[in-house]
Amino acid sequence: MSRKVIIAGAGAAGLIAAGHAAELGADVLVIEKMREAGKKILISGKERCNITNNAPLEKFITYYGRNGQFLRNAYHRFFRDELLALLRRYGVNTQVERGGRIFPASGRADEVRDALVRYATEHGATFRYLTEAQRVVVREKRVVALELWNGQRLPADAVILTTGGASWPGTGSTGDGYRMAAAVGHTVVPLRPALVPLTVVEREVVKEVQGVSLRNARCTFLVKQGRKEKPIRLPFPMPPTGEMLFTHFGVSGPLILTASLGVVDALRAGKKVTLSIDFKPGMSVEQVRARLQREFEQYAHRHVRKLLKGWLPFKLADLLARMSGIEPERHLYTIRVAERERLVQLLKDFRLTISGSLPLVAGMVTAGGVSLKEVHPLTFESRLISGLYLAGEILDLAADTGGFNLQAAFTGGYLAGQAAASGG
Ligand SMILES: Cc1cc2nc3c(=O)[nH]c(=O)nc-3n(C[C@H](O)[C@H](O)[C@H](O)COP(=O)(O)OP(=O)(O)OC[C@H]3O[C@@H](n4cnc5c(N)ncnc54)[C@H](O)[C@@H]3O)c2cc1C
Repeated sequence: MSRKVIIAGAGAAGLIAAGHAAELGADVLVIEKMREAGKKILISGKERCNITNNAPLEKFITYYGRNGQFLRNAYHRFFRDELLALLRRYGVNTQVERGGRIFPASGRADEVRDALVRYATEHGATFRYLTEAQRVVVREKRVVALELWNGQRLPADAVILTTGGASWPGTGSTGDGYRMAAAVGHTVVPLRPALVPLTVVEREVVKEVQGVSLRNARCTFLVKQGRKEKPIRLPFPMPPTGEMLFTHFGVSGPLILTASLGVVDALRAGKKVTLSIDFKPGMSVEQVRARLQREFEQYAHRHVRKLLKGWLPFKLADLLARMSGIEPERHLYTIRVAERERLVQLLKDFRLTISGSLPLVAGMVTAGGVSLKEVHPLTFESRLISGLYLAGEILDLAADTGGFNLQAAFTGGYLAGQAAASGG
């Protein structure tokens, strides 16, 4: 008789788990509380779904920070090529874009979601939508059933929890799985927002430049250590320079999102974090000073505003002039050396004090989750409860943008589906 596998959550991990478990002959039922499957897949990658990344394995796992090691062996079993081959079987062709990011060639996230639903249904998996899983029923450290919100118990040989994180709750991921896993004894590493915009103390300053985005800035997050300052340890590799954006509450954009989890953790540890922005990362302080001096002499009758427009976006140029004590309409020949020096300093080391981040629901992913120490890295089976499997964002795994979060969910779901179907 085939094994009864119940999957809670029809997102990235749940859908692929359903497809593979059913493909291997299990009797699969998927419980999904939303009206449709994979709502987060649909909005992923700006609705284009950045499925995975082209980076080689050793580099790939660095994008998960320290916890990436957990995925190494799983990736030896089911990685990018296997995932892309599976999607191709269901009609999804892909293309590699900037930064090795892999998207459907059609540019449509719904193609990925639909392909995975087809994978599952074609092999006989059934779906119950608008149905909320409430509790994993365990007897003598073995899964026996999944209980629904209305108290109905569905007997199961295996339950796979793929309920996602606690971010973007409108997609259905409201953190239910953490509660269900904790109720059967699992440790949940504290949840924090990752890939999240940051807020600053100097709201009035950033408001003046909200909407200004920079293509090529260097962002360094500093904490005090004694009298000195040192850059904080960031979980994901940070490109030396990149894009950032000012918002009405603080800062955002790719560089900031990548660094945000490290900043959130430093703030949680009680540290005071300062952001230093270098607007001219390609030039040393001396080079900036020399070029400004040269331009001040060459264009002595120009306004500061006009000169700085050659250096920075308009709104930012005015802000920096004023912060240097210079009215933007002043002529260059009236500016004192000390004022010019202050401009040099602001161009190379513009400071903002980080006050926090937007809340957990606004992070693109949830960091923290079910402790990896309690999950088998090849089968994704709980080490505490036999027959219980956990995959996707419910685990204490969060990665940078670039397709890494979805690949972790797909790999975990696939291997959990395999093990659940075979009783491994
Ligand atoms: C705006 C945005 C863009 C993103 N873009 C990308 C990207 O391009 N590339 C990338 O790699 N990552 C991206 N991510 C992250 C990625 O989408 C997630 O990490 C991934 O979807 C997690 O997969 P999952 O299966 O664990 O959870 P989810 O995909 O969130 O699925 C969880 C499912 O469980 C259901 N569920 C929850 N609780 C219950 C319950 N009690 N009973 C029944 N069902 C339940 C939910 O309704 C949901 O359908 C993005 C995230 C956001 C918010």
